Amino acid sequence: LTTADLIDEEHRICVCVRARPLNKKELTMKDLDVITIPSKDVVMVHEPKQKVDLTRYLENQTFRFDYAFDDSTDNDMVYRFTARPLVETIFERGMATCFAYGQTGSGKTHTMGGDFSGKNQDCSKGIYALAARDVFLMLKKPNYKKLDLNVFATFFEIYSGKASDCLTYLYEHKAKLRVVLEDGKQQVQVVGLQERDVKCTEDVLKLIEVGNSCRTSGQTSANAHSSRSHAVFQIILRRRGKMHGKFSLIDLAGNERGADTSSADRQTRLEGAEINKSLLALKECIRALGRNKPHTPFRASKLTQVLRDSFIGENSRTCMIATISPGMASCENTLNTLRYANRVK
Ligand code: ADP
Ligand code: MG
Repeated sequence: LTTADLIDEEHRICVCVRARPLNKKELTMKDLDVITIPSKDVVMVHEPKQKVDLTRYLENQTFRFDYAFDDSTDNDMVYRFTARPLVETIFERGMATCFAYGQTGSGKTHTMGGDFSGKNQDCSKGIYALAARDVFLMLKKPNYKKLDLNVFATFFEIYSGKASDCLTYLYEHKAKLRVVLEDGKQQVQVVGLQERDVKCTEDVLKLIEVGNSCRTSGQTSANAHSSRSHAVFQIILRRRGKMHGKFSLIDLAGNERGADTSSADRQTRLEGAEINKSLLALKECIRALGRNKPHTPFRASKLTQVLRDSFIGENSRTCMIATISPGMASCENTLNTLRYANRVK
């Protein structure tokens, strides 16, 4: 390995944690904050009310990441240190992925900007939109302008191992997608997935709105559905029709759903098993990418299959934003999230 290789590998995967503030419900229940972020890359999980004494650092559950964002950090700042550097990657003919991973209610959708339910009808300040904005800004730079790139977007979800397009309605149902593994060319095709031509940030915002409403409409409980599905939003750069770069931004299913495997309800059990499988496969794929391993175990789940080309290749970069709830009531899930994120790198 040369020094250049080492630097490359180090920058290939970025793992961050973001803690949200205690919400109204938690405050009403008198839940207590068990999270402290003492520096820009450390997260501590501790007894509530315990005054965190930094000399006793190691006695607490302490985790170190590339960045740790506390509850005063806004989406702009999170974006700047996570997805922003990856915009460059797709202009340099690379593949980029950014995941939001965490428990339901911890802030994945808030971070990504896919929230169109209830009062939060504003996706313009999430990572999806901020990334799109910067893609269009970069297009104007002279050295990229001369490449004559076209921008496309897709939005689909994976629910219980099945992929469907969130931008196309087929007889009022989301169009089912077929994932085909092509061994010869070593490529994966998502048959039926529509790439939408987008010319500006507003075009992208409209698509996100359509995708979000499609994700939640017709579901008995919108939240239950979205917490069990992985949402994939992609920005694709094409040059004379050929793929130049691709940025996949993924709002993952709630990781606590992977523990639903002992539920009394068969459907819930199956969905839980599927989520568990895909999150484990995802971890292994990112680890393989970080270690420059020749073999990427992408076949293990639908999610990793559709992201296959993002996990291989010289110029692939990934960022994971692990979102955590600060309350003691969520402590178990928070520790699971932090352990998972810790092992990704
Ligand atoms: P998830 O997608 O992980 O299930 P959400 O993004 O829907 O969680 O967040 C749950 C609730 O908490 C939402 O009402 C959201 O607006 C709020 N929330 C999440 N993160 C933050 C944050 N960093 N600051 C303020 N509110 C937040
Ligand atoms: Mg969500």
